[in-house]
Amino acid sequence: MNSSEAIALVTGANKGLGKEIARQLAAQGVFVLLGARDRERGQQTEAELKTQGFKVQFIPLEVTDQKSVEQAASEVEKQFGRLDILVNNAGIALDWFAPAQLDVETLKKTYETNVFAVFRVTKAMLPLLKKSKAGRIVNMSSGLGSLTLHADPNGPFKDANWLLAYCSSKSALNAMTIAFATELRTTGIKINSANPGYTATDMNQNRGTKTVEQGAATPVRLALLPDDGPTGGNFSDEGVTPW
Ligand code: NAP
Repeated sequence: MNSSEAIALVTGANKGLGKEIARQLAAQGVFVLLGARDRERGQQTEAELKTQGFKVQFIPLEVTDQKSVEQAASEVEKQFGRLDILVNNAGIALDWFAPAQLDVETLKKTYETNVFAVFRVTKAMLPLLKKSKAGRIVNMSSGLGSLTLHADPNGPFKDANWLLAYCSSKSALNAMTIAFATELRTTGIKINSANPGYTATDMNQNRGTKTVEQGAATPVRLALLPDDGPTGGNFSDEGVTPW
């Protein structure tokens, strides 16, 4: 697909990686719908990106709210009749402590946004993506979602046994990537998990070692995959991330 004809929806696009993914897609000529749950923050981002010359439009979207998601889907249907790119970016990290200190409510809350909401948004947008010539779905995952890396006693997370809610929510998200890719394999739709790397955003009090420009590169590449590109994979800018 010619990127200048493509319509994309990025969830959680008012700041951080979502905003930068939106900016980079728009820089490639994609018309980007900026999903944001807060009207003021969404409109501010729309105004900022429009001032930079990009074609973007704020769309109200609280991903944990079924009604909000349905309204967004019907708005996209009404305005464009299809969706070419969905970036499931909205996410939260709440538990910065060891598993035994985690409570069920925090676990549930994390899964509401990072897992159930991605399922909800993907299901709602799928009929529109099926109307695209080359639908692309990108699930914003994390290296922290890799069970292989966590289970490796010499791996990068051997001393990082915190964030169980966040890490396991991204593992569940990866499972969804595989399941939808299998279901959609005979269609033109490709779905992949993107691992942006440790990126300086509000999520980590800007402690990340990468810039948002660097972190957005992999999700943007996956959003613009050619027809012979992969599906059902898990990628970072270093290549394949193990499941
Ligand atoms: P961030 O700066 O905290 O941004 C998160 C975005 O998600 C915000 O726009 C936030 O909106 C939105 N959001 C959260 N809950 C929402 C909801 N229920 N409905 C709609 N929007 C919601 O975090 P980030 O670092 O850019 O993270 C973006 C994605 O990348 C996440 O999925 C994260 O897990 C993933 N990731 C990040 C890193 C990293 O190092 N930063 C590494 C790996 C993966 P509000 O402004 O309204 O809160």
